[in-house]
Amino acid sequence: MHRTALALVALLAPSCSAPRQEHDYLTGSLLGMMRWAAPQVREMLDVRGKDLTLWVLPEDDERLETHAATTGDRRQVAFRADVRDKKLDVVASICAHEATHAHCDREPWRRLPEWAEEGLAHHVAVLLVPDCADDYQPEDMAGYRRVAQLGVGGLRALCERARREGLDEVPDEWFPR
Ligand SMILES: [Zn+2]
Repeated sequence: MHRTALALVALLAPSCSAPRQEHDYLTGSLLGMMRWAAPQVREMLDVRGKDLTLWVLPEDDERLETHAATTGDRRQVAFRADVRDKKLDVVASICAHEATHAHCDREPWRRLPEWAEEGLAHHVAVLLVPDCADDYQPEDMAGYRRVAQLGVGGLRALCERARREGLDEVPDEWFPR
């Protein structure tokens, strides 16, 4: 069994006026929800676990255009502090989405083009937190629908075919229109 170890390495910037207890509550909630989401995502994608580090950034931090993002090395997930204003199940859905990105550097998933990975992240979030399907929609809903038609198993099959054929990326024409 592989476990995902989670660490929280950054708290809010001192300039933030929210009381300290609220920071602890937010970071505790995020850790708890990521511990809930990450193992389910790994099971769905059938990939090994990895250590993830969660960051909470001030809400005016310009590095984050959305409420959360996974960094290029796929081992760090940053949340913007105003994610605390979202309903808890929406935050759970965001965790599922980011946990999907975090694990998409693994075989065979790393062969997904960026738009399809985004669709997969939303698809997984909707499967895990169905009530939030409308609360946190991706910009590219058309891409999401193409991915959702295939489901996790169908997408995996495309990635495995690309791997067999020596392609770095699943060609666009393999996806449903
Ligand atoms: Zn995303």
